[in-house]
Amino acid sequence: MDFLPLPVTEVTQWAGQTDVLVAGFGGAGACAAIEAADSGADVMIFDAASGAGGSTALSSAELYLGGGTSIQQATGYHDTVEATYGYLMASNGPQADPEKTRAYAEGGADHLAWLESLGVAFKPTEYPHRAMMALTDDCLLYTGSEKAWPYCDEFAPAPRGHNLKVEGDNGGPLLMRLLEAAVRQRGVTVALESRVLRLIVDDTQGPLRVVGLVVRQDGEAQCYRANRGVVLCLGGFVMNADMLAHYAPRLQKATIPIGNPNDTGAGIAMAEAVGGRLINMDEGFVSLPFYPPASLTFGILVNGEGKRFINEDVYHGRAGTLILDQPWPVYFIVSVEDYADYETVSYLGAPIAGTGETLEELCAELDLPAGALARTVEAYNADAAAAIDADLHKQADWLKPLKAPLVALDCTPGHGAFFPYFTLGGLDTTVAGAVLSMSGEPIPGLFAAGRTACGVPRRGDGYASGSSVGDATFSGRRAGRAAAMGGSAP
Ligand SMILES: Cc1cc2nc3c(=O)[nH]c(=O)nc-3n(C[C@H](O)[C@H](O)[C@H](O)COP(=O)(O)OP(=O)(O)OC[C@H]3O[C@@H](n4cnc5c(N)ncnc54)[C@H](O)[C@@H]3O)c2cc1C
Repeated sequence: MDFLPLPVTEVTQWAGQTDVLVAGFGGAGACAAIEAADSGADVMIFDAASGAGGSTALSSAELYLGGGTSIQQATGYHDTVEATYGYLMASNGPQADPEKTRAYAEGGADHLAWLESLGVAFKPTEYPHRAMMALTDDCLLYTGSEKAWPYCDEFAPAPRGHNLKVEGDNGGPLLMRLLEAAVRQRGVTVALESRVLRLIVDDTQGPLRVVGLVVRQDGEAQCYRANRGVVLCLGGFVMNADMLAHYAPRLQKATIPIGNPNDTGAGIAMAEAVGGRLINMDEGFVSLPFYPPASLTFGILVNGEGKRFINEDVYHGRAGTLILDQPWPVYFIVSVEDYADYETVSYLGAPIAGTGETLEELCAELDLPAGALARTVEAYNADAAAAIDADLHKQADWLKPLKAPLVALDCTPGHGAFFPYFTLGGLDTTVAGAVLSMSGEPIPGLFAAGRTACGVPRRGDGYASGSSVGDATFSGRRAGRAAAMGGSAP
């Protein structure tokens, strides 16, 4: 598709003009529109779909917020900005953005309060289970690897996943309903079934400035003018196989791209066509959702050499990401006792690769080098009996010798287990949301947020649930405010 910008000199007619144009009505776009309107701007928001929501409405809408939110305090956790910042910087690795991470850690409590001011309710209770998500209306849960090595040694763990006050996995639709209502209450002009095609640029007055959008409506290309700024909130590129193959082929080893069908990277491509810099494009969230049941954590993950490669008490995304780089096949070995209610509560869907009344019987059913698994299990069982995982540091709570009868689940990507993924790369932006050029200068008039930009979450092996919706809503607000101020917001 051709994302080249349209020079303003070629616009023959404006279909409309306003202060701020927001492209994309998911989590980031809704928050950008609300903040731009609250900053005094007239705002229009476009979405290609026939309703607001995007991937945010498909999500659980867990929000990763720390630094001492009202819910953390009410449930007795004394989280600090420094612990939140430290954990996020360490888990997002060398490519973590200190300025964005600092703002996010410092702003977590306020962001939660802002969402509450829009009617988003959070119950001041904890969901004290090792789980993918809270299926009750309880709020606070651990959604990262805070309690696991190496992070637990360095940063005081605290739960930072905030679940909306709603029963079942229904956070996303509820969050987007409330954000949409807040957008409409502010008199923002909403244009659905409106596909944003290209940016409109003006270089007649000096440096190139983004001044509008070309939007397809009822089959016609229409031009809209933005007097202050354009905010791109068009999601990531997980549904674009060509972009994935070009930028993030490793992610394609996972099996199920998750998101909405418009996650095609259009916002990233449009901004790139006016000189926007793309960063971290090879990274993504990848999950092996092996809990619930939490009891599987007592098991071990082994690679094609029959060796363990991860402390199994980590977040499911850390395990999922590391699997991509292991020699395959990959098996989850667990005792029948801890296999428990796997078949009714698991999201994993991994087929059984083998079973054994004894370890020897199980080994005979698996495609592993002779003796390798037996050596691994013997060493693990000795460590577990001593309550110290010498090599991989699984915490003592989850150490227990593997006792026959045993089951092996096939967790090799492509063998049937659920391996969802989405992208974490995008436009390089300032902490305020201005899109940066290849030389690191803000491109006048252009802002981006959510998965169109590269925000706080930057690595699959360090991802925590809630950091994408958390970052999308947080960065959307900043970009909306900056656009309303014509780029002068801090
Ligand atoms: C099943 C599932 C569960 C998840 N659970 C969580 C969770 O609990 N916590 C968490 O943090 N993350 C979660 N995620 C990830 C998270 O939902 C997304 O990464 C995040 O919501 C993206 O927000 P966004 O505003 O950037 O994009 P979106 O919410 O996808 O909004 C982008 C919008 O842009 C529109 N659009 C795209 N292209 C165009 C175009 N050319 N013209 C006009 N409109 C266009 C789309 O239709 C869409 O409405 C989950 C994802 C899925 C799929």
